[in-house]
Amino acid sequence: VVIGGDAAGMSAAAQARRLRPADELEIVVLEQGPEVSYSACGIPYWIGGLVSDRDRLIARTPEQFAEKDIEVRTSTRAESIDLAAGKVVATDGERLGYDSLVVATGGRPARPDVPGLDADGVYGVHRLSDGAAIRAAITAGAKRAVVLGGGYIGLEMAEVLQTRGLAVTVVLADPVPMAQLDRDMGERVCAAMGDMGIDVQTGQPVREIEMDADGTARAVRTDTGSYDTDIVVLGLGMGPEVSLAREAGLQLGVTGAIDVAHTQRSRSHPEVFAAGDCSQTFHKMTGEAIHVALGTHANKQGKIAGSVIGGRPARFAGVLGTAMTKVGDLEVARTGLCTTQAEDGGFDFRTETIDATTRAGYYPGAAPITIKLITERGSGLLLGAQIVGGPGSGKRIDVLATAIWAGMTAEELAGTDLSYAPPFSPTYDPVVVAARVASRIQQG
Ligand SMILES: Cc1cc2nc3c(=O)[nH]c(=O)nc-3n(C[C@H](O)[C@H](O)[C@H](O)COP(=O)(O)OP(=O)(O)OC[C@H]3O[C@@H](n4cnc5c(N)ncnc54)[C@H](O)[C@@H]3O)c2cc1C
Repeated sequence: VVIGGDAAGMSAAAQARRLRPADELEIVVLEQGPEVSYSACGIPYWIGGLVSDRDRLIARTPEQFAEKDIEVRTSTRAESIDLAAGKVVATDGERLGYDSLVVATGGRPARPDVPGLDADGVYGVHRLSDGAAIRAAITAGAKRAVVLGGGYIGLEMAEVLQTRGLAVTVVLADPVPMAQLDRDMGERVCAAMGDMGIDVQTGQPVREIEMDADGTARAVRTDTGSYDTDIVVLGLGMGPEVSLAREAGLQLGVTGAIDVAHTQRSRSHPEVFAAGDCSQTFHKMTGEAIHVALGTHANKQGKIAGSVIGGRPARFAGVLGTAMTKVGDLEVARTGLCTTQAEDGGFDFRTETIDATTRAGYYPGAAPITIKLITERGSGLLLGAQIVGGPGSGKRIDVLATAIWAGMTAEELAGTDLSYAPPFSPTYDPVVVAARVASRIQQG
């Protein structure tokens, strides 16, 4: 039995089915919503009009899973889990027995405890229905939006709402957007957003959503000001959705997410697996328990659970915290440790920041790119990297993530055979330039 029919749950179901045929393993997926296998990641771009049709965000339908002998029950909630009896109780009261259970209940958007949050005109960005509601509000004539939160969902929503013609204010409690970056890199993001005409109000926790007499949101109030708006969009981060797991008595970890081993087996009940946004994971470099709500991990972790259930040994390898996003033409990416994490981890480190261009300087479309590297003092071991720049910048983080994953030093990275042609990079790719500067400084 699988609870939750999106990235983690359907990856688990599909992988288990690949490894074990229907006469050996019956698979039933319970999904409380109307669809499975949908892309939350695409919701901002559907709102922005880049994706024309909601159905394009749905990778596979229940009927397609049925062809693979995976029974999907939509609009069916798992109400409780009886761990002792090995049964899940569904909405209709049916008790489904299981040999293996996958809990893939996903994330729960952070909601600040402030008056007015339930007002009409306040929207989350989590499910496809949220996307439909925001699209409807824009069609109905919304002209101003306040986005709460300066993480990647906040940035993506700011971009697409502006694209749809709304005046956008982003209100965040942190001193700069993208708290996973170092402050100096976050300041670049903040300045670029200002240049794009997005009003960014930093260091201001929201205190209240002010309402009209009819209960519709009309402004967001902080200690500093009140920002008039037609709609409020919540982009305040994602915690784990673990109410079902907690009530059942599954062990939660220090992050509040379900505590799992590298096989995605729950620590307290080995016949129960958890994967995706509801589960805890670990940092590959520090071993620290962390909660990272990203689809890239949810898919992989679901597949690991499905492999183990299907009889093929598999282990999740951990996360580096690699992530990227964009706002307008500005691409933002990070991997590994930021300076705060390096300090907390007790590393003796140094940082180097370089400015370059994404293409040969003479080639049309060459855009500025800034790369910051964090390396261990003395050894030059790569610890972390951050990128802020124009089109073509962000995906370079994958080279840096691979180098960190492989335990390379800045000097080793500087000597790697990276590609060059004027439309794609300067003679020395900015990644190589950053690595060279970092290794030269280590040596000197
Ligand atoms: C706007 C947005 C943009 C994003 N962009 C990116 C991106 O660019 N890159 C990236 O890597 N990640 C991105 N993510 C994150 C990514 O979407 C999630 O990490 C991923 O969807 C998590 O998958 P999951 O299967 O763990 O959980 P979910 O996708 O949340 O699915 C959990 C499912 O479980 C169901 N469920 C919960 N409780 C029950 C119950 N009791 N009974 C039955 N069903 C239940 C829910 O209805 C839901 O369908 C984005 C997320 C959002 C919201």
